[in-house]
Amino acid sequence: MSVLVVGSVALDSVETPFGKADEVLGGSGTFFAASASHFTSVKLVGVVGSDYPVHKLDPLRARGVDLGGLEQAEGESFRWRGRYRHDLNSAETLETRLGVFSHFRPKIPTEFRQAPFVFLANIDPRLQLEVLKQVERPKLVACDTMNFWIESRRADLIELLKHVDVLLLNDGEARQLTEHANLVKAARWILQRGPRHVIIKKGEHGAFMFTGSTVFFAPAYPLEDVFDPTGAGDSFAGGFIGYLARTGQLDEAHLRRAVVYGSTMGSFAVERFSIQRLLEIGTSDIRSRLDDFRRLVAFEEEMPA
Ligand code: AMP
Repeated sequence: MSVLVVGSVALDSVETPFGKADEVLGGSGTFFAASASHFTSVKLVGVVGSDYPVHKLDPLRARGVDLGGLEQAEGESFRWRGRYRHDLNSAETLETRLGVFSHFRPKIPTEFRQAPFVFLANIDPRLQLEVLKQVERPKLVACDTMNFWIESRRADLIELLKHVDVLLLNDGEARQLTEHANLVKAARWILQRGPRHVIIKKGEHGAFMFTGSTVFFAPAYPLEDVFDPTGAGDSFAGGFIGYLARTGQLDEAHLRRAVVYGSTMGSFAVERFSIQRLLEIGTSDIRSRLDDFRRLVAFEEEMPA
């Protein structure tokens, strides 16, 4: 089954302790599409400015991502500038320039409106709500957000939650949104406002999935070299939703497996700048890392006498 994603398509400038990248392909929609395209067909809706090197998106097209909903508007592209210090778990935003994004009104092409899986990647919650008005009863709607929108569009975000099945966010964002320091309480607060599942990611410390009655935890892959954490969250979402869309199943067992696929794809994204690594890998790399994950958490139950 296909996935519709609406998100930012950006030019990122990133500084990490290991190097710098200037004006490279980025954006929540871009990372998600690169990751989910390993599992299913992806339809991307977003906007870029007249200065965007659109040809650099060709590798996504080659991977089967439908860019028919990517608008090119007069003006500057969305730009994000961020820095990671030695704690690679949290990005410091140095600059966000919305550019053409500030006037963007998502128009979902008619042929995209019946996509059974919809991912509202990190963009203005008002735009995320507008997307939902245009799609036709998807099987699953998942969404992401970030501190920028929690601060500036809190009421819209809470309204959006009523219409979403799965919310993905990181631990800092969950605390900021709910004003609960404890993540179990934060998850409960979110579950009371609409979503049936909430996934709280803790960077290199793994990810929790909460439902009304269950909790699941998957570790992050213990990588020796994390190069650039940008896009880990969107790539996680791409693995999570891509896997669910591929199987079409939404029971607890599939959702749990989807979290591990999410962790797997996030772990690839951070090995290089931009979407580079996501474009290099193939099915055998994904399978082999899943096997590593299985070994990582395997243990035999034994109660000493
Ligand atoms: P993450 O997966 O959370 O690391 O997301 C990284 C991507 O989010 C970067 O490629 C940025 O271009 C994009 N981004 C940063 N700030 C925003 C924002 N306010 N709205 C939409 N996308 C953003």
